[in-house]
Amino acid sequence: MEFLAASLLELITQTSTNLPPDVREAMGLAANVETPGTQSAQALDIILSNVDMAVDDEAPICQDTGMPTFFVHTPVGVNQIRLRKAIQEAVAEATRRGKLRPNSVDSITGRNSGNNLGDETPVIHFEQWEEDGIEVKLILKGGGCENKNIQYSVPCTLDHLGRADRNLEGVRKCILHSVWQAQGQGCAPGAVGVCIGSDRAHGYELAKRQLLRTLDDVNPSPELAKLESEIMEEANRLGVGAMGFGGKASLIGCKITAANRLPASFFVSVAYDCWAFRRLGVRLDAGNGAITEWLYRDPSRPIERMARGEGFPLTGREVILTPPLTEAQMRELKVGDMVLINGDLFTGRDNVHAYLMKNAPPVNLNGAALYHCGPVMLKEGDQWRVKAAGPTTSIREEPYQADVIKRYGVRAVIGKGGMGPRTLAALQEFGAVYLNGIGGAAQYYARTMEEVKGVHLMEFGIPEAMWHIRVRNFAAIVTMDAHGNSLHADVEKSTGAVLSALQKA
Ligand code: SF4
Repeated sequence: MEFLAASLLELITQTSTNLPPDVREAMGLAANVETPGTQSAQALDIILSNVDMAVDDEAPICQDTGMPTFFVHTPVGVNQIRLRKAIQEAVAEATRRGKLRPNSVDSITGRNSGNNLGDETPVIHFEQWEEDGIEVKLILKGGGCENKNIQYSVPCTLDHLGRADRNLEGVRKCILHSVWQAQGQGCAPGAVGVCIGSDRAHGYELAKRQLLRTLDDVNPSPELAKLESEIMEEANRLGVGAMGFGGKASLIGCKITAANRLPASFFVSVAYDCWAFRRLGVRLDAGNGAITEWLYRDPSRPIERMARGEGFPLTGREVILTPPLTEAQMRELKVGDMVLINGDLFTGRDNVHAYLMKNAPPVNLNGAALYHCGPVMLKEGDQWRVKAAGPTTSIREEPYQADVIKRYGVRAVIGKGGMGPRTLAALQEFGAVYLNGIGGAAQYYARTMEEVKGVHLMEFGIPEAMWHIRVRNFAAIVTMDAHGNSLHADVEKSTGAVLSALQKA
């Protein structure tokens, strides 16, 4: 198996850095239906540019490279123990090269292993088959969209949709609800893999396996094909839009399977994947491990460019923010304003927020812009280099954010997906804003980062440490202001009204 290590490393690298053609096509269509000049259209422009940048630099499309999940078929006689070890070694090497973010955290101690290896990580599903070669498929699905997976036990009552019964109409309601509840937190426009039936654990696994289907395939079951197409049409009438900004493109794929269930149980399990839908595969020679065929992509075809025009054109109407920020500056901003940050940011996510509840910050946060971000960083000599650095889902910090703003004087919180009522009240009381970055645009944001000036709380691991970064032209949109306005609350309300109308349809 002299080529096995290189083949697996190439599979991981391509999956992390090169969006598959079917997803590119779906994202191109999504961008075409969006109304030019809207916030959703601006977000899609940044996303499309980001996809190109990732290929150009062979760098992660999104900084959250997720829980690497492998689906492997082997002929009878192939040593799966050796193959597992080779996959683990390739994952560690890809992490060392900055193609994967170190994402494996001990659930008891909180320690990040640093190489993506640990108990049950990466996830590897083996099956035997009667073909000659080995097939390895890989999905990289980040935490933001993973957190929006949802499982329904029907009959149940759903927001805006009423009762969901144990039939395909009930399933339809559950799937529409799953898209609605994700809003922008899973980096819409997304795709859903669905399993009707099975038990709780296997149902989720089968739902995730639906994401192995290409977005343009047609379900062999006429009933499920019809349901998939109905969901695509109806979900894209909801108005969630890219990043939950409100807009026409909310879903790029819906793939449904059914499995037998227990008489007492009826689960509808939904795996929500984001626009950064990273999934590729290879066939390997079972003798030497060389790649004999790529799945989902044709390496002989040139990679099409995604960006339209200049990518993200500046209009001159953007508000320039240069931290430290003042209360008066923040109170001038309103929902919908586009800002460009020049100067210093501090990153801080789950561990940092929990830490700040009991400890003073290691830096002065008065007037600061606090970025919810877990970057991919590589050390070159004495200097850290940003490899990928898009925003993470902010709502996780809702229990802490109001206190952090109040205690330490943070003036701008940057993340994605928006925050809740406690944070909104704190923004209003203390004079601060929430800025929504473009989720998954890790390369776009990495290019705005001119210098890593320092790092604190490194004991939390690279994604969770507090990074001090100097940025230029870091673009974001004010989606929660100091006047009590929240675009997220507005879009949730308006999309909820559409959902109610779909119930009656
Ligand atoms: S695009 Fe968004 S949801 Fe997807 S992995 Fe990246 S941050 Fe997470």
